[in-house]
Amino acid sequence: MKKCEQLYEGKAKKVFATEDKDYVIVSYKDDATAFDGLKKGVIEGKGAVNNRMSNYLMQYLSQNGVPTHFVEELSERETVVRRVEIVPLEVIVRNISAGSFSKRYGVEEGIVFDSPTVEFSYKNDDLHDPLINSYQALALKLATREEIDSIIAMALKVNSLLKDYFLKIGVKLVDFKLEFGRTSDGAVILADEISPDTCRFWDAETNMKLDKDRFRRDLGGVEDAYREMMNRVFGDNNG
Ligand code: UDP
Repeated sequence: MKKCEQLYEGKAKKVFATEDKDYVIVSYKDDATAFDGLKKGVIEGKGAVNNRMSNYLMQYLSQNGVPTHFVEELSERETVVRRVEIVPLEVIVRNISAGSFSKRYGVEEGIVFDSPTVEFSYKNDDLHDPLINSYQALALKLATREEIDSIIAMALKVNSLLKDYFLKIGVKLVDFKLEFGRTSDGAVILADEISPDTCRFWDAETNMKLDKDRFRRDLGGVEDAYREMMNRVFGDNNG
């Protein structure tokens, strides 16, 4: 599929039109931001890791009954995906306390929950993505009740599939963020990415952080952590 004009450039990805209005090409960058864009940097090789890992996980989810936007990997950094209208909600699922959950509720990181939590943030840069509940999302017409119910069900299914998958490769899936989109025929499918940028991964034995927290918190070894996750998913030869 041919890459046409650039439609959008975000913090970590560019999106290009194709000759088919139902498909776009996503191109992953090495640029990294954190804390609402206040911290900026480059994580060498991140674009390729996120592209390949996200595509692999999206295919795994599709095979297990979760509809996703994935169509075809074009290269290390570029992928064809279904064109969708993104539902302006960040859907966060947590299995273990960390990050903003620990801060907001005043608890340490690492508390294992009996069952996962689901929360939404309203995707709005001007408002700094505030926490929102489903009633407020409905009032603002960000999604319908049916869409919200289906998003929650899909998010929990993604969690149970990925949690098991990562445990098998020695990784605890602490929490992650998903985004969903509407296709031209009105279906809601999983979109965006699933990567060390959007998930917290802790080594199952040592609890070592293998994700973007190494960048956010200046822990060092950022590139190594992304590479390590790549190796766990694809094996040491990266094939
Ligand atoms: N997350 C994300 N994008 C965001 C906010 C959060 O991908 O804009 C991911 C983050 O990597 C983590 C999970 O969502 O895996 C929960 O993040 P949290 O709410 O704890 O926020 P943070 O501490 O990252 O600010």
